[in-house]
Amino acid sequence: MQVVHGKTGWIEVICGPMFSGKSEELIKRIRRAQIARRRVQIFKHGIDARYDATSIVSHSQQSLPGIALTHVTDILDLVDDRTELVAIDEGQFFGPEIVEVTNKLANQGRRVIVAGLDLDYRGEPFGPMPQLLCSAEYVTKQLAICMVCGDPANFTQRLSESTAQVLVGAQETYEARCRRHFEPPAGA
Ligand code: ADP
Repeated sequence: MQVVHGKTGWIEVICGPMFSGKSEELIKRIRRAQIARRRVQIFKHGIDARYDATSIVSHSQQSLPGIALTHVTDILDLVDDRTELVAIDEGQFFGPEIVEVTNKLANQGRRVIVAGLDLDYRGEPFGPMPQLLCSAEYVTKQLAICMVCGDPANFTQRLSESTAQVLVGAQETYEARCRRHFEPPAGA
């Protein structure tokens, strides 16, 4: 089904560790699309209620209202026929279906932007992100600042002992680290 007639869709992925500015970059791209009067819908995973259950919020407190969901396939029911840009935050928390869903939306002629962590706290690929990165036309990898030395940081250091892959938190639970100062948990 070609919803947005005469246009070719595509997928953009914004990835990197925590604090690398993924949400800020996502918000910037959405704002610019809104200035261009594009029809936008914003989704995020319902698990991340750190700041706001229904808005995407950056660590620097920029925010935009969105819809929180658990099953990424719900986007196919919720997306309006006229929506030109579908933005998804915290893409790493969704199941593997996010690859099929984003491809479907792009094949319908829409621009799709997904922001998400590419690596988990062990430094291993996070959920569906590797497959998503492969099917995206545009990939932006961002780096944060290492909290030990100030160099560019590609890793998210968990500061607690928990071994759950998903442990929602911000500065008190995680910090950005470069490869020299990243300490993967024992056994990872
Ligand atoms: P992400 O979505 O990648 O977690 P955000 O867009 O929410 O990142 O937040 C990025 C902001 O976080 C930066 O602009 C900065 O104000 C703040 N920040 C806090 N710690 C760091 C850090 N170690 N490196 C870079 N930015 C940091």
